[in-house]
Amino acid sequence: MKISNICIVGGGSAGWMTAAALTKLLPNMNVTLIESKNFATVGVGESTNTYINVFLKLLGLKDEDWMSYCNATYKTSIKFTDFAGKGQNYHYPFGARDFSEAGSIATWYFWKLLDPSLDNYSFAEYYHPVITMGDQNKMTANVNGEVRAFDFHNATAYHMDATKFGQYLKEKIALPNGLNYIVDDVVKVNQNEDGSVKNLSTKENGELEADLYVDCTGFKALLLSETLKVPYISFNDSLINDKAIATQLPYIDKNKEMECVTNCTAIESGWVWNTPVFNRIGTGYVYSSKFETPESAEKQFRHHLAGGNGNMVIGDKERVDKAEFRHIEMRHGVHETSWKHNVIGVGLASGFIEPLESTGLLLIHENIIFLLRTLARKDGQVNKIDKDIWNYSVREKVENMREFVSQHYSLSSRHDTPYWKHVTEEISYDFGPLGVCDVAYPTTTSADLVRRLNKTFTFGPEQGGLLYIATGNGYTPLSSMDYPGWEPEMLKQLKSEQEVQKNKYKSFKQELQLTLDELPTHYEFLKENIYN
Ligand SMILES: Cc1cc2nc3c(=O)[nH]c(=O)nc-3n(C[C@H](O)[C@H](O)[C@H](O)COP(=O)(O)OP(=O)(O)OC[C@H]3O[C@@H](n4cnc5c(N)ncnc54)[C@H](O)[C@@H]3O)c2cc1C
Repeated sequence: MKISNICIVGGGSAGWMTAAALTKLLPNMNVTLIESKNFATVGVGESTNTYINVFLKLLGLKDEDWMSYCNATYKTSIKFTDFAGKGQNYHYPFGARDFSEAGSIATWYFWKLLDPSLDNYSFAEYYHPVITMGDQNKMTANVNGEVRAFDFHNATAYHMDATKFGQYLKEKIALPNGLNYIVDDVVKVNQNEDGSVKNLSTKENGELEADLYVDCTGFKALLLSETLKVPYISFNDSLINDKAIATQLPYIDKNKEMECVTNCTAIESGWVWNTPVFNRIGTGYVYSSKFETPESAEKQFRHHLAGGNGNMVIGDKERVDKAEFRHIEMRHGVHETSWKHNVIGVGLASGFIEPLESTGLLLIHENIIFLLRTLARKDGQVNKIDKDIWNYSVREKVENMREFVSQHYSLSSRHDTPYWKHVTEEISYDFGPLGVCDVAYPTTTSADLVRRLNKTFTFGPEQGGLLYIATGNGYTPLSSMDYPGWEPEMLKQLKSEQEVQKNKYKSFKQELQLTLDELPTHYEFLKENIYN
């Protein structure tokens, strides 16, 4: 098929990100976007990860262009509070690891082997000074490299107002680049005999016809699900959180509460996200309807926000009492094929994994980039193989994310509520080759260890994260149970090296603290550099 007219249905984040990218980067395409004022957008999705920088660069956007419009702030890590166990936290930091203190990733694992009381939190902290920076709410553009291994421009993600981000892309990129914009309802999707979409009937603008229709209609997937009836592969068996409650809170103290990490806190029957944007805090409780009613969940969420669980930066009942709470349904899974006939799905209409690792927007921009490549390759000529490659790639990405997100539950030691007992002891997780076994598998000889570490630590980007999740939950490649098979010489050497290494690290932490003392808070940094 030859594509030169594209119609995007939906004006949520997926619709506007697609419209901005197509109009800006494929100027020969004729692009229309139709959105309805009668169907709300999902209105959440405010935490990103670092891959968004590639998308922003493609659009030619610099922080100072768009961040203040979208109330954006910086994000250097995802923190999992109370996930591994109550009172146990770990991070999944962004960016490269810092090996200046230790020659290799194995160092921390040896420490842990020889001193099992070592807090698992310190694994990510040891290799990423940016965690200590984030814990103290400090920020720097790092022009002089004062925080080691912190690549401010590429390894920092954002928290942002998702609705404003959509508006920004519309007003500053899509419309100026020639988007044909229609506000109307699609009331019927008309099909050809072969099942492909012939045109869209609208309430006030007659029929819209295109070569390719991009379904960005959210969870309902008006074209892919409702019209083409493409089967939806549900992940509800292993990812059981199917509801969310979202709210927004005003700041009490911006210096303390504007954290540069997304804090995900496990509570009774799910977890709470905390996404501080510049003018307010976005927060929400993702939970399972198997264990809570909307009422009981809202009660737990309010209790948490008021400081009842003891892990809010500032818990405040009065602020919670004034907030509005919105209940959201979620469906996890992916369409068997996200490109069928002349329809492709982007965003929630294509597939969705619960937001624990901020994969929603990630899937959107990765799929858009893939679409751009596909359309640019032969000037809009698309063969069957191109659709097959798209479908394979989308499914593979979502499946990897499903496994990765599931591991945050499967490895946890919590069983203190019926929900946590269920997710840690009862669910059968279906892990493929990306599974945790390589990180936790016994290592009995030094050759074995080197081989395993090499294998584990040469994971690609998705798998790289597993290291932090597994280690944060106490799964490591080395165990004292392996001692008998280890060469005595190796152990002797390890023990003597350990003290040297630890002392080196202690001095480094003291130096780092002196640096951090001089840095502005995240809020002060934003005021100075973005909101000035
Ligand atoms: C609770 C929750 C938390 C999340 N948190 C994160 C996060 O932190 N980070 C992240 O990356 N992602 C997150 N996500 C995912 C993220 O919100 C979505 O990926 C993103 O908002 C994209 O949504 P969308 O544009 O696909 O759909 P929607 O926002 O639902 O947009 C659908 C659009 O379709 C239009 N439409 C529907 N029917 C019609 C019709 N008949 N005619 C015309 N127009 C129509 C609507 O008007 C609307 O404009 C989260 C999702 C949920 C549910």
